[in-house]
Amino acid sequence: MEFWYSENHTDNVKFSIRVDKQLFSGKSEFQRIDIFESEEYGRFLTLDGYMMLTEKDEFVYHEMITHVPMAVHPCVKDVLVIGGGDGGVLRELVKYDTIERIDLVEIDKMVIDVCKEYLPSVACCFDDERLTVYYEDGLKYIRRCANMYDLIIVDSTDPFGPGEGLFTREFYGSCSNALREDGIMVNQHESAFYKNDAIAMQRAHKRIIESFPISRVYQAHIPSYPSGLWLFGFSSLKYHPVRDMNAKKWNSLGIKTKYYNTNLHRGAFYLPNYIEELLENVEQAI
Ligand code: SAM
Repeated sequence: MEFWYSENHTDNVKFSIRVDKQLFSGKSEFQRIDIFESEEYGRFLTLDGYMMLTEKDEFVYHEMITHVPMAVHPCVKDVLVIGGGDGGVLRELVKYDTIERIDLVEIDKMVIDVCKEYLPSVACCFDDERLTVYYEDGLKYIRRCANMYDLIIVDSTDPFGPGEGLFTREFYGSCSNALREDGIMVNQHESAFYKNDAIAMQRAHKRIIESFPISRVYQAHIPSYPSGLWLFGFSSLKYHPVRDMNAKKWNSLGIKTKYYNTNLHRGAFYLPNYIEELLENVEQAI
């Protein structure tokens, strides 16, 4: 008897992974949390049935959401991660000795606890002494912050359920306020291939460009996410993500990655025409 995990990418498209074993299933006050084991993708985490990460391709997402801003900002000391309960962004951030403080705001403690137990290759750095974890809603936490962070990484779920508030105009305005005058915010920016994802992406982009003078979108290939083509938002009060990227300095750090490199960094910001058009439609509407 075969057991398959399936996720509807649209009403007419399903993504399925054959599962060897279900390792965990539980329900927190916020969402259902499941961990599966599979031949092809290794272990993977789903929240409310939606794919969050797999051992096989999580490195793409976590490297691209972390090293892109870290290769641009000249001196990141204070970082805020909103969401990120699986620990993947944290694992990439701790590779930088220059970072002095990491605040991680995760609404659901159970996600951290489960990932520590079942995804040790991802949730491996929660003991870093620079880290403070806040178990609360990122939308509420950010309201208390002004001029505090050099980098904010919004590693949230999708724009529904507990993550909905992290895609609002209020939230992006609060992030802009929480950053120092040369701060950078990056966010997981959904996708552009399927219609509903494209609409969510345009909605987020419209709200972001109203809060940041510089706002660009970049791409990566993440097979387990809808369509495999995933987008990230790069927003800044001062730095341009390609012109101000310091390849020589980043490469001198000797940070080992499986996906990110400074040539790919430049290329990731050159998008297909159909995505450029979706973004221009929003930018011109402002
Ligand atoms: N990389 C994954 C993706 O792109 O879908 C998401 C990573 S992580 C698992 C997302 C985290 O965001 C979850 O642990 C979830 O509990 C957390 N989260 C959702 N809404 C939140 C909120 N309002 N405040 C803080 N954390 C939130």
